[in-house]
Amino acid sequence: MKKATQVVHAGVEPDPLTGAVMTPVYQTSTYAQEAPGKHKGYEYARTQNPTRTALQHCLAALENGHEAVCFSSGMAAVDAVLKCFNPGDHVVCSNDLYGGTYRLFTKTFERYGLQFTFHDFSHPEKIVEGFRPQTRLVWVETPSNPLLKILDIAEIARMAHAAGARLCVDNTFASPYLQNPLDLGADIVVHSATKYLGGHSDVVHGAAVVRDPLLGEALRFNQNSTGAVPGPWDCFLVLRGIKTLALRMEKHSKNARIIADFLNQHPAVAQVHYPGLAQHPGHHVAARQMRDFGGMISFRLKKDTLESAIHVTSATRIFVLAESLGGVESLIGHPATMTHASIPRDERMKNGITDGLIRLSVGIEDPEDLIADLEQALRGV
Ligand SMILES: *Cc1c(COP(=O)(O)O)cnc(C)c1O
Repeated sequence: MKKATQVVHAGVEPDPLTGAVMTPVYQTSTYAQEAPGKHKGYEYARTQNPTRTALQHCLAALENGHEAVCFSSGMAAVDAVLKCFNPGDHVVCSNDLYGGTYRLFTKTFERYGLQFTFHDFSHPEKIVEGFRPQTRLVWVETPSNPLLKILDIAEIARMAHAAGARLCVDNTFASPYLQNPLDLGADIVVHSATKYLGGHSDVVHGAAVVRDPLLGEALRFNQNSTGAVPGPWDCFLVLRGIKTLALRMEKHSKNARIIADFLNQHPAVAQVHYPGLAQHPGHHVAARQMRDFGGMISFRLKKDTLESAIHVTSATRIFVLAESLGGVESLIGHPATMTHASIPRDERMKNGITDGLIRLSVGIEDPEDLIADLEQALRGV
């Protein structure tokens, strides 16, 4: 089945009780048993819920995985993946990570004895230098946040496996419609479904998808024992959002392409980070491993200052100044003071997240309106 068909149908069967075409919201905490231990596969809603089951089947299919496990947020999914590893284990990470992931790794899991090192993965030899005998996990985001760096998933998977480590890819920016890391050799995919999967900025949700049944079992164990489970309404909203994932991702990509071209020739803009641009250093790898280039763009102002970034991000009228991404509406953000504020300034600057860097989550509006909005906001910087 092709992806555009899968997003509409995967995981969803007409409800066995009534034939309801849309998966019902099973708002219940527990399930009746005929006799002790004799039940229909559902005992208690932290452990299983039919609305969640449908979504998990859908996500497993979309990522060509064996099993998907859903959580109350993207961070809860990341947390559950890390809890499949042990104190003393070492994790090599790309250095352009979502701020919350960086914070969870360095502020929480380091206290529990996991070790992390961060490298610039655009130079593959650096990855190998980062490996230690205790390295068990490699963690990457591609396209990355906020610089839209592209990493070669197949190559990194080979390196990780040669070192006896697993590879986890945070696939939030691409969505399963544009990129399927498990097909490229990754072992684990995580999503903040809050973003493109949900797609309407109305739900916080996360998921992890795997092929190895042992990893699936470990994740399900963590889901049930730590309890960061999503409610049935949230699962319903994500399932509903996924039905238009193909349409949305195509339009996000199309609009972003037009806006990247516009910014690329704008006199106030020094640099545009968008993998769809031929000049982007990851363009060829992105063209190989993604179906399209997605809806995320970042750009650096010529006047690379906090003041000019604040001017632009406060002046847009259609682009809403807000954290998050991946919804139908266009958002604008300032990584240095918003999404990446938890990363120390020195570290941030070293990684290219300068004060004049602006991030766009391009929505599905008319591109002419979006360009006119950016044009007026960029006036005077
Ligand atoms: C938002 C985000 C997360 C965290 O997800 P939540 O749903 O906010 O907990 C993780 N990774 C990336 C790339 C994100 O954009």
